[in-house]
Amino acid sequence: MSMEVFVLGTSGMMPLPGRCLTSAMVRREGRLFLFDCGEGTQVSIRRLNLSWKKIDSIFISHMHADHVTGLPGLLMLSSQVDRTEPLYIYGPERVREYVETTRRMLDMFINYEIRYITVESGTVYDDGMMTVDAVPLLHTKPCFGFVMRENLRPGEFSVENAKALGVPEGPLWGRLQHGSDVVLEDGRVVHPSDVLGPERAGVSFAYITDTMYLSHIAKHVEGVDLLLCEAMFTKDLSEDAYEKKHMTASQAATIARDAGAKKLGLIHYSPRFANSELHLLQEEADAVFPGTVLCRDRMSFELKAAQ
Ligand SMILES: [Zn+2]
Ligand SMILES: [Zn+2]
Repeated sequence: MSMEVFVLGTSGMMPLPGRCLTSAMVRREGRLFLFDCGEGTQVSIRRLNLSWKKIDSIFISHMHADHVTGLPGLLMLSSQVDRTEPLYIYGPERVREYVETTRRMLDMFINYEIRYITVESGTVYDDGMMTVDAVPLLHTKPCFGFVMRENLRPGEFSVENAKALGVPEGPLWGRLQHGSDVVLEDGRVVHPSDVLGPERAGVSFAYITDTMYLSHIAKHVEGVDLLLCEAMFTKDLSEDAYEKKHMTASQAATIARDAGAKKLGLIHYSPRFANSELHLLQEEADAVFPGTVLCRDRMSFELKAAQ
């Protein structure tokens, strides 16, 4: 299976010209999953031609303005389209209060149902094909990162084995592929494990912001195909990072390295770095995790499972 990950913005604290607030969108099987929604997030959604209508769920990391002030505007887009499915918002308890209060005060016209799910550590979403786990982070407000993992898929079907065992081509092959035993005409039983290779991993994606460095994050994001991780500061500003409960680029890279992540993309840069200085963050991270990507707005990643 596969996922596409769109980086909608990379700025921390405030939007800057050419740098929207940190947010990401995952597209999987035509459905969209949004992570955080700061002021102006809908502009990137529009520029990438992602259909708002297809957003299934929104995951909010924490209640800081740079991660939520775009929500009311995004929800109001509904007056432009017909939507019959509910929209799910996963986040801290106060997301509901924030959205519902704004909705009342602005007399927002929302013609579909919004369902709120309060996030706690552990699996918060499971549709039978993939899961989203919330990772407890440590920031100046309660905060969670998110890890999206596709479920394991059945192993490769061996036509050779099936033929050698005398399983006739047709519906019996399908049943074996779906994990059921089949009984042949001569009474022999063939098990899925006789014709299927080892289970295959799906793809996975992690979104980690805002937090100070915690060694346990690596365990939660182990082996992910793509880790988008905050890199607010350079190493020389470690004290600021510690005080404000954010991370340096090299700490983000340490997590990626310890987790055995396949790829690391940096996000949530401090506005103190001009665009021309962002390479410092990339270089610092690259020294720990070679190949680190300095994400820029509207960059995208295609994650494909190994065959
Ligand atoms: Zn932030
Ligand atoms: Zn924050």
